[in-house]
This record gives sequence, C-alpha cells and structure tokens, in this order.
Amino acid sequence: MPVTSGTLIDAHVHVLGTGSNGSGCWLRLSGYHRLLALYILRELGLPSTLLKGGLDQVYVERLLQMLRGSLVSRAVLLAHEHVYDEAGRRIENFGSFFVPNRYVLELAKRHPEFLAGVSIHPARHDALDELDLCIEEGAALMKCLPNCQNIDCSNPRYKKFWERMAQAGLPLLAHTGGELSVPVYNKLYSDPERLRLPLECGVKVIAAHCATSSLFFDTDYTKNFATMLRQYPNLFGDNSGMQTPIRSRHFRRILEEDISSRLIHGSDFPIPISATWARLRGFLSRSQAKELNSNKNVLERDVLIKRAMGFPEGTFTRAAAVLRLPN
Ligand SMILES: [Zn+2]
Repeated sequence: MPVTSGTLIDAHVHVLGTGSNGSGCWLRLSGYHRLLALYILRELGLPSTLLKGGLDQVYVERLLQMLRGSLVSRAVLLAHEHVYDEAGRRIENFGSFFVPNRYVLELAKRHPEFLAGVSIHPARHDALDELDLCIEEGAALMKCLPNCQNIDCSNPRYKKFWERMAQAGLPLLAHTGGELSVPVYNKLYSDPERLRLPLECGVKVIAAHCATSSLFFDTDYTKNFATMLRQYPNLFGDNSGMQTPIRSRHFRRILEEDISSRLIHGSDFPIPISATWARLRGFLSRSQAKELNSNKNVLERDVLIKRAMGFPEGTFTRAAAVLRLPN
C-alpha cells in the first residue's frame, strides 16, 4: 500500500547493530550507555548476549513484526553519523554508535514498512556527493544530532548543503534540547535557534523533542521553538522520546494548539515507552496506564498512549505531507 495522507507513520525510529550481518553498524558502550543498552534489550525481551553479536538481524525482525501487527504502517529508520570537526575531519573515539546510510537505504528498499532516514555531517568533504547519492536512493529525511555530532547548522559554509536538501524536498530531522542516550559534544547546538539557516534556505525542519530538556539542569528551549514556529511555516516538531521522567513534564506545553498543530509523531524507539510518566503527570488514570502498558507492541503502545493523552489525530499522519516519499 502506498503512503497516503492518512498513513500512520512513526518518523523517529533508531536502528542499532553491532555489524554482525555486514550492516556496517557499530556500538561502543561503556558505563551508563552499556546499562541503558542492557535495559533496552530486557524491555524488548531480547537476550543481552546479542550485544556480542547477532543484534542487527534480530532487531530488524522485531521492528518488522511490530509494524506488521499494528496501527503504525511505516517507520522512518534512522542512520547515525560520525562526529566531525568544522574542517571535516572525523573525530575518533567520540560517539556511542554508528549506523551507515547504505544500511537504512537498503532496508527501506527491501521492506515497504521502512522509510530511510539518512545522516550526513555537512562538514564532510564528500557531504554533497553523499547527499546526492542518498536522494537518488530514496532518502525520506536527513537526521542529525547537532549537539552530539558537532554541527552548527547555521554555519554559512553549510548553505549549499541545505539548499540542495530544500531543492530535493528532503526534510531535516534535527535533535533539539537535552540528550540522555548519546554523548553530547557541544551543548550550544541544542538550541533550535541554530536551525535558522536551513529554515531560511527553505528546508522543512522537524525539531526532534520540540527542544525540551531531558535533565533537571538542562536548558529548556521550548520557548525559542514556539517563537520560531510563528516565524517559519516550514518548521515542525516531533513528540519522540518524551515518555521519560523529565521530558514528560513538557507534554502539557506541547499539547497546546500552537505546537500540537505542527507535531509529527515519533517514538524514538528503542528508548523505553511506558504510560507511567503520562499517568504520573495526570494525563491518564491508573487503569488506563495499566492497560496501555500491557500492550507488548511498543510502537503501537506509544501511539495509543499519545492518543489517550489528547494528541490531535493530525500528529500521527502529518509526516506523510512532510517527508520525501518514494514514488
Ligand atoms: Zn532519537
């Protein structure tokens, strides 16, 4: 079935792997990130031994299984870029995982349930070539984490890159606000203010997490994001990764009409998804939360939680009008 205006799309799904099936992915886990990975595997009912090998295939199978038996018809699978400096030199030994573009592009070609979210650092010497290749191969969006991958999106040197994206109708999904699960390189780049250049070049920009804070001491940039929504009709936000202790406190704000009318649904899978935080924040009753948490299909659980919380229906289908979809 082709994507239509009513197709329910999860526009923020991570792929993880150890490279065990030739995917080219890697994971470098230590300390907190290792514990998080073990917790995630347990939540998914997968053995921790998969971290030593075999994760890639099992992970993709699990995603397909969830999509085939759920309300969610499509998932944008996100590649994950290396960290580079402004001169385009790769910064080694930083970053906790890598997912190559060709892996998500291949998966999207093989399975109609998947759309490809590629990831390119615009300072790379071959950034424009890689972008052209990804566009040709059917990329649905370009994802980056400016604060973790060291990307100042408003650096004038990246103008050509954004113009090419705008011309191809390829949206940018940019992480905004605090970050918990990936090491942060430059905190200043968490501010959605840094997204002005791509917006002015005409790129459709989705600010992941609506610039909310993820820790108590994080700066909350939601205000800046809301101001920019009024200035740029090509700016959107996603509601991904918010079923967490701190981010959940921003649900009330993003459910207000000025933001909720510009939202795109995303789960941030495999970040744990539970109705507990929405219940503690007063959006759900105890029995509602219990029933929602009993749904083993976490991609579907996330949609049902958000529907019960009052996210407007357009949230779940807006992506079809924003993403670059294959013909
Ligand atoms: Zn994410």
